[in-house]
Amino acid sequence: MTPEQLAAKIRTIPDFPQPGIVFRDITTLLQDAAAFSASIEAMTAPLRGLKADALIGIESRGFIFGAPIARELGIGFVPVRKLGKLPGETISIEYDLEYGTNVLQIHRDALRPGARVIIVDDVLATGGTVAGTLKLVEQLGAVPVAISFLAELPALGGRARLPDGIVSALIAF
Ligand code: AMP
Repeated sequence: MTPEQLAAKIRTIPDFPQPGIVFRDITTLLQDAAAFSASIEAMTAPLRGLKADALIGIESRGFIFGAPIARELGIGFVPVRKLGKLPGETISIEYDLEYGTNVLQIHRDALRPGARVIIVDDVLATGGTVAGTLKLVEQLGAVPVAISFLAELPALGGRARLPDGIVSALIAF
């Protein structure tokens, strides 16, 4: 399936969750077995050979893509979650949203220093969420080797907040 065909499976909903936001709804892609499978395969292909030690999925849609990619790569899955969801000892990062702030957490013992990690989320928008995740990875002394998205929204400038050369997205809207 081509990126254009995959893009056509994503439903666009204007003014969700608030006026002015053009929401890219991936549920229509997920419910199509061939499109979901092709997305996982296409996101996984460039990640093979990176010798990554772990894959981080960002709550919650990053879990949907991250977990099957981790399994394909034969590496463990590490969740980055919203405040108060992880039961063990955590480290936290506060980051800016369009309105207000949010907190992300990771288990302190989830990554060893020097671990090579891949970060996965569904959509790159402003990049705030993944920039926060990168800070958590750095605090644990791990090394990001790839950041993979199903789709990116280039008009929102997220890539500029992320390291050069390790960011990829199958689709751009
Ligand atoms: P970001 O602005 O890059 O921090 O985006 C935060 C999260 O919100 C990402 O994980 C996306 O899943 C989601 N998101 C932001 N904007 C959109 C959008 N227009 N359509 C779909 N998801 C979005």
